[in-house]
Amino acid sequence: MRRKLAAGNWKMNGTTAALSELEALARAYPTSSIDVLICPPATLLHRAAEVVRDTEVTVGGQNCHAATAGAHTGDISADMLVDAGASAVILGHSERREDHGEQNEDVRAKARAAMDAGLKAIICVGESLEQREAANTLDIIGGQMSGSIPDQSTGENLIVAYEPIWAIGTGKVPTLNEIGEVHDFIRNRLERRFGEGVGRSVRLLYGGSVKPSNADEIFGVSNVDGALVGGASLKTRDFSGIVDALLKA
Ligand code: PEP
Repeated sequence: MRRKLAAGNWKMNGTTAALSELEALARAYPTSSIDVLICPPATLLHRAAEVVRDTEVTVGGQNCHAATAGAHTGDISADMLVDAGASAVILGHSERREDHGEQNEDVRAKARAAMDAGLKAIICVGESLEQREAANTLDIIGGQMSGSIPDQSTGENLIVAYEPIWAIGTGKVPTLNEIGEVHDFIRNRLERRFGEGVGRSVRLLYGGSVKPSNADEIFGVSNVDGALVGGASLKTRDFSGIVDALLKA
């Protein structure tokens, strides 16, 4: 049985005042049968970890460097994320791939570093609208998976998030069939590469305009083990609607 996961990506949003949202979330789910994770900006991570201490909510990073330490001005290592209280890190988000030119091999190196440090790596894959319209979605996802996912991956340290780029922050969502097709494909690929045991134990998240109003139906799709949520994770009122839908799924 895979434990379901509702993960929030605050991106470059939130200053000290936003910690009250996290406090409310931690109060709302003092115990839970699913995992709830918030990835705030790095500046809030340590304080966020203090806020959720002794609760079921955990916190994570949004990126890390592939090296453990050194002359990399402005970067953060996986060990630093652990030191700040993180349990996971989002890697290969399309915004990092686009804004910072991150390639699959960069994502793979970062994921190795994250796993070596004891973090769960949430590796994001997803196609552009152009790629979907050209019927290249599965080829793109397959290539991103082979390029970005390290060999040392297990059901414990790897989570894959399918995030169609055209659905992120746009209010557009693929059909349930389209989501199911990609998630089944990802599961199949993982089973072929890592064997059935590991392949079946890796959690797969859907991400892209998930809201309380569409979460129920998305969580009913095969091989969807939860969601990676951007905009709707910023306010606990909205994110709780998604967590509640996952609790019922
Ligand atoms: C994301 O960026 O990971 C994301 C899914 O964003 P949103 O939920 O806002 O579409």
